[in-house]
This record gives sequence, structure tokens and C-alpha cells, in this order.
Amino acid sequence: MTLRFECQSGCTRCCDTQGFVYITETDLLNIAGHLGMTAAAFEKKYVIRYPTMLRLRKPRASQCYFLKESGCSVHPVKPVQCRTYPFWPELVENRKAWKEERVRCPGIGKGPLIQIGSACEIAAEMKTAYPAQYDVD
Ligand code: SF4
Ligand code: SF4
Repeated sequence: MTLRFECQSGCTRCCDTQGFVYITETDLLNIAGHLGMTAAAFEKKYVIRYPTMLRLRKPRASQCYFLKESGCSVHPVKPVQCRTYPFWPELVENRKAWKEERVRCPGIGKGPLIQIGSACEIAAEMKTAYPAQYDVD
């Protein structure tokens, strides 16, 4: 299986897609630090904590508080889920799903060939970061 991908300049479609942004404990600390907030203050304002996972709260009118006109306002420390997209296990491991994801991501099918090994390494990072979502013990 060969994959092509190149994030398209000016595109923020994945940040606008209906869904939740799950974060890791490290993401929480990194984003709080980036914003000059304590972890506790950041969590209170922006995070919902479940027994086995954390996710960002969503504003009423958009999908993410950190999506601004110019793009992601926490880009250097954005969550693993955002940084690794579209190389998620459910897309990388399923040719049909990868092709269908073009509807949501115009960068799929464009740009340089990505070695499947590299794509799988990124996908593995997702499984490590979000074990509850991927049934990893
Ligand atoms: S939808 Fe795809 S091309 Fe657009 S910003 Fe997200 S990753 Fe990049
Ligand atoms: S954290 Fe940044 S990259 Fe992730 S959904 Fe929000 S704006 Fe997009």
C-alpha cells in the first residue's frame, strides 16, 4: 500500500470536523505551559476528564477553542491526535478508509509518497497515546 499526503496550505478542515479532540496528560501540561497557565487552571477551563481519557471542551460555535483565523493557536504543542492526523491506525491500516478520508482531508493523495513503515510508526504513536481508544492494555 502506498500513501501520499501533504497538508494543504491554509486548510483547517480537520480542526473543523465534527468530533472531539482527545489529549494526553503530556498534551495537557504542554498546552498549559504554552499558554502560561497552570495545569489546574487549564484543565478547569478547557478540559473534560473521564476515568480513562481526557478531551478538550468544545465552544458552542466551533469545534475547538484553539482554532483561530490563522490556524491552530497552539500549533507547536498541539495534541498527539492533531499532530499525527491523518496517520491514524484506523486509516493507515485500511486502504478503503484511507481513500474515503479524502472527503475530510484534501491533503490525502497529494504530495510525496510516504513509506508505509513511517506511516505505521506515526499510527503506533496514536495507540500509545490513547490506549483506551485502541484497546491497548
Ligand atoms: S484536513 Fe488535511 S490538508 Fe487540511 S489541515 Fe487537516 S491534515 Fe492538513
Ligand atoms: S488543537 Fe489545534 S490542531 Fe487540534 S483541533 Fe484544535 S485548532 Fe486544530
